[in-house]
Amino acid sequence: MEIKIKKATPKKRKAKPTDESKLGFGKIFTDHFFNIKYKEGQGWYDPIIEPYRPLQLEPTAMCLHYGQEIFEGLKAYRGQDGAIYLFRPTENIKRMNASAERMCMPLMDETLFLEAIRKLVILERDWIPRGEGTSMYIRPTMIATEPALGVHSAGEYLFFIVVGPVGAYYPQGFSPTKMYVSEEYVRATKGGTGHIKAAINYAASLYASRIATKMGYTQVLWLDAIEKKYIEEVGTSNIFFVIGNELVTPPLAGTILPGVTRNSVIKLAGYFGTKVVERPISIQEVISASENGSLKEAFASGTAAIVSPVGQLHFRGKEYLINDGKTGPLAEKLYNEILQIQYGFKKDPFGWRVKIRNAEKAKKG
Ligand SMILES: *Cc1c(COP(=O)(O)O)cnc(C)c1O
Repeated sequence: MEIKIKKATPKKRKAKPTDESKLGFGKIFTDHFFNIKYKEGQGWYDPIIEPYRPLQLEPTAMCLHYGQEIFEGLKAYRGQDGAIYLFRPTENIKRMNASAERMCMPLMDETLFLEAIRKLVILERDWIPRGEGTSMYIRPTMIATEPALGVHSAGEYLFFIVVGPVGAYYPQGFSPTKMYVSEEYVRATKGGTGHIKAAINYAASLYASRIATKMGYTQVLWLDAIEKKYIEEVGTSNIFFVIGNELVTPPLAGTILPGVTRNSVIKLAGYFGTKVVERPISIQEVISASENGSLKEAFASGTAAIVSPVGQLHFRGKEYLINDGKTGPLAEKLYNEILQIQYGFKKDPFGWRVKIRNAEKAKKG
């Protein structure tokens, strides 16, 4: 299928941000977006990159009523050599299809999906910022558009990709977060949708986040829904602990999101000789480790921040400081290594970087 490109006229194009230190995250989007439609019996049709615009939906579009909506998040980087790179994009593409499968939504051809990202990012390449740690965020999304009421899987869908420049996550250096352990609210349960990137998971998590924020914490540390005993994730990131000399993280057992960054952290930490263990970790084990001094570090992992150190934990009315509230050495090392692979400062031992466009030759004159 050929992706049609309809460019915005120069007059319709937005001014690009001039101050890269003020980009933030998820506030600015470029001049174009990709979209493709699906109809049962016909399959996907009309792939196009066209000027960015509001979507037109019927008030009865099924995504608005029954929540068939999934998404992904990845980034494009301007490498130190001036070329443009993606980081493990196939992982996001496969995960989006896993989300689609679970939500009874149609799968997207992997080649077409990657081609859509590539074409859109290349068309919008002048929007990719140049500063250290900056990038272009890529948000593929799929929604049910069939106008109908009544609970059933929809027969019509829209898949789209928007992109926008995002700032460095730590412009002033790391600032360790404070986690609030939620025993009242849960994020996901076995047999549910915790292992996919579906919008419904995030709506359901907001209330506990609001409570944590009001109490002065940065994020919720989620426990398993059944026993409220085992640690699952932190906010919308995966979680790691350094206990003794081991890096431990909860296993992928159907309730946590299989993060691409989680996988990169596991592989790289192992590559550098750290013992990594995927196993259930109870909150009690973490508290005991904190009390006996064997809890050395805690950090979250995700595409937006790569690694986000955790400096403090609140559990049953008590505060536990982790590494004196400071960033630990392993978190810092993993952050730097992944960042340097993404931008091409370091060799890429696992072949994660995908070059989508060579550096532009300097113009003469
Ligand atoms: C996206 C996400 C993550 C992190 O996944 P990455 O692929 O590393 O960005 C972790 N947990 C949840 C709930 C997420 O939505």
